Amino acid sequence: MSEKTVKSPHKCPEFRRCGGCRFLEGSYEDSLRKKDEFLRALLGKFGEPKPIAGMADPFHYRNKVHHVLTRRKDGTVLSGFYEENSRRVVPAEHCLLEDEGAQAIIRTLERLIRSFHYTVYEEERKTGLFRHVMIRKGFQTGEVMVVLVATSPILPGKNDFVKALRKEHPEITTIVLNVNPYDTGMVLGTDNRTLFGPGFILDRLAGLTFVISPTSFYQINPVMTENLYAAVKRLAALKGTETVLDAYSGIGTIGLSLASSAKAVIGVELNGDAVRDAVRNARQNRIGNARFYKGDATEFLGGLVRAKEHVDLIILDPPRSGSTEAFIRAAAEAAPDRVIYVSCGPESLSRDLELFEKVRYRVRSMEAYDMFPWTDHAEVVCLLDRA
Ligand code: SAH
Repeated sequence: MSEKTVKSPHKCPEFRRCGGCRFLEGSYEDSLRKKDEFLRALLGKFGEPKPIAGMADPFHYRNKVHHVLTRRKDGTVLSGFYEENSRRVVPAEHCLLEDEGAQAIIRTLERLIRSFHYTVYEEERKTGLFRHVMIRKGFQTGEVMVVLVATSPILPGKNDFVKALRKEHPEITTIVLNVNPYDTGMVLGTDNRTLFGPGFILDRLAGLTFVISPTSFYQINPVMTENLYAAVKRLAALKGTETVLDAYSGIGTIGLSLASSAKAVIGVELNGDAVRDAVRNARQNRIGNARFYKGDATEFLGGLVRAKEHVDLIILDPPRSGSTEAFIRAAAEAAPDRVIYVSCGPESLSRDLELFEKVRYRVRSMEAYDMFPWTDHAEVVCLLDRA
C-alpha cells in the first residue's frame, strides 16, 4: 500500500468546531505517525502493532454521508453535524471526508425542502418534519440511496418532490423515507417506506455483490475495507475444511468473502434488516455454505457451545464498544484454534485482548488500517491462537 505525501489543504473552515477531524493541521504522514504512537502505547503490551496502512488519497473517502437538518434564521435550510458535546449544527459544506457526489445531493435537498415549504425539525419545540438526511453510495456500482428521516410518514406533494430531486440527480437509484418520531437519540427509526427504486443499493466488495438496506451496517471506507478484508482472509489461512463463525456479521461481508475457502460459515448479527441482507447476499452470490442468524452474538455463541457445535475459527467485528466478557469466555469454551478480532475501537480492543489472554489465547499479530483518515479513529485486525 502506498503512503504518498499528502499535504492537508487546511480548507475546512469548521475544523475546530466540528471535532470530527483531529489531524488536519499537519501532514497525512504526521497523522499516521500519531496513530501509530497511540496504538503502540495502548496495545504494545500484547506485541508490536504493524505500522498503520494509509490511503493513497485520504480525502472524500466516506461512502455514507449523514447530516442533521436545521433551519437558519433567514429560513434557508442548513445541513451539517452536531458540534461536539452540543446540539448546535456545524455546516458540513466543506467536509473533506465525505463523497462529493453525496454532498451535491444534500445541497439540492436543502434547496428543495425550502421550495416545497417542508418544515424542519426543531429540537427545542419538538416540531417539524425533516430531521436528518443520509446518503449512501456504492463506490463500485455507482448506486445511490437517499434516506430522508422525518417525524411523519405524510409528505404532501411527495411525488413532485421525488421527481424534482431525481431530475437534478439522475444518479439516485433509490429514495427511502425513514419515519422516526421518537426522541431516543437514534438517528434512524425502524419504519422505512420506499419512495422510489428498490429500497436498497448494491455494491461490490471483495469480488462479491452486496445488498445494503438503509439501516444495515456497511463499512464507510470501501477502499480500505478491501485491504482490511484481504488481511482477514490472509490471517484466516483457510484450507477449505473449517467451520467459521462470523460474529457481529452485519450484511455478511466478512463471512461471505471467506465462504469459498471454508467448509461452512455461520453468521450472527443483532440487526434484523442486516441479517435479511446477509441471507440475500449469500443467495445472490450463489454461496450455499453460509447461514446467518439474528441474535445477540454472546447468547448465540453460548448456544453453540451448549450444543457442542464445533468451530475452527471465530471472527468477531463488534461495534466500537467491543465485545463482552461472556462472549470471550464462551469463545474459549468453543476452543477454536484461532480467533480474528477486527476492531474499530482500540480501547475496547485492549480490554478484550486482556480477557482473551486470561482464557489462554495469545495475540500473534496486530495490523492497523487507516479506515478513517484525519479522525482519531483506527481499525485494527488481531490474530490470536490458543496457547
Ligand atoms: N462485520 C460487518 C459488521 C461490523 S459492524 C462488516 O464488516 O460490515 C458491527 C455489527 O455488529 C453491526 O452490524 C451491529 O448491528 C452488530 N451488533 C451490535 N451489537 C451486537 C450484538 N450484541 N450481537 C450481534 N451483533 C451486534
